[in-house]
Amino acid sequence: MGALRLEGVTKRFGDHTAVNGIGFSVAKGEIFGLIGANGAGKTTTMRMVLGLIHPDEGTIEYNGKPYSKEAKSRFGYLPEERGLYPKVKVCDQLLYLAELRGLNRKEADRRLKEWLERFGVPEYYGKKVEELSKGNQQKIQFIAAIIHSPEYLILDEVFSGLDPVNVELLKETITKLRDNGTTILFSSHRMEHIEELCQHVCILHRSNAVLQGNLREIKRGFPRERVLLETEAPVEGLESVDGVTAVKKMENGYDILIREETAAQRVLLAAAEQSAVNRFAIMEPSLNDIFIRTVGGAHE
Ligand code: ATP
Repeated sequence: MGALRLEGVTKRFGDHTAVNGIGFSVAKGEIFGLIGANGAGKTTTMRMVLGLIHPDEGTIEYNGKPYSKEAKSRFGYLPEERGLYPKVKVCDQLLYLAELRGLNRKEADRRLKEWLERFGVPEYYGKKVEELSKGNQQKIQFIAAIIHSPEYLILDEVFSGLDPVNVELLKETITKLRDNGTTILFSSHRMEHIEELCQHVCILHRSNAVLQGNLREIKRGFPRERVLLETEAPVEGLESVDGVTAVKKMENGYDILIREETAAQRVLLAAAEQSAVNRFAIMEPSLNDIFIRTVGGAHE
């Protein structure tokens, strides 16, 4: 049984179906990835999980139970559109939010100071939100989402606008929360983040779940159509090997696209006839490749 389970969930806005009969299950201590182009239905799904809007059909269960008002304090939410008040001090805002979620002020204050310290920005405690850069405002909003140690954490595009150091900092924090048993629903347009963090994913396309499951298993279901080759000396004529569709010369080798996996062996033979081969690898498809194949067209 998943800690969070959706079944046949549908949401309509007027005559537009934003989410159409989707279902998935997230285990306790798991980061589940929701993927989809703009307008696919990710945020609507998250808002239903949070009980902010209600499904027209289907069920959502939390540890086997339906939504209840008291469940609210067990949720943490980082919305895509950031919602802190610019004129209000970080401490006033976060302590207020933490109290709303059931923490007493003293404990909230202790935790806020601890998180600011951990994120290397203790001096933000008394600053107004508008005085901080966008990325740093986001760190504060992230703290707002987790300060009460939620059981369910819903993260909508959590890394957007962050520099690489802060992305790593939040990634580390998110994986620690996962390891401590937080159930996390995570959306991102950046496939490498999903690949790194999520074991199970659901690809939404125009309101429907078009592909979902264990990411490793999903990958096994797709053909391997890319070969990386590194050779001692330059190799000629790889383009004309039967089954090769494209060859890109790289700094220290070749990135080769093939029509079917058997062509990889012919590439290896052709290369080995001309040079010592330092590296030969048939690559599994990336999540980005899979997304484009499944949904069609480029993903931003
Ligand atoms: P993005 O990647 O752009 O954030 P998303 O996958 O989160 O997209 P949603 O925000 O869930 O997409 O939107 C799904 C569809 O539902 C869109 O067509 C959107 O216009 C529509 N929609 C969402 N909320 C409402 C609303 N309150 N009223 C009317 N239509 C809505």
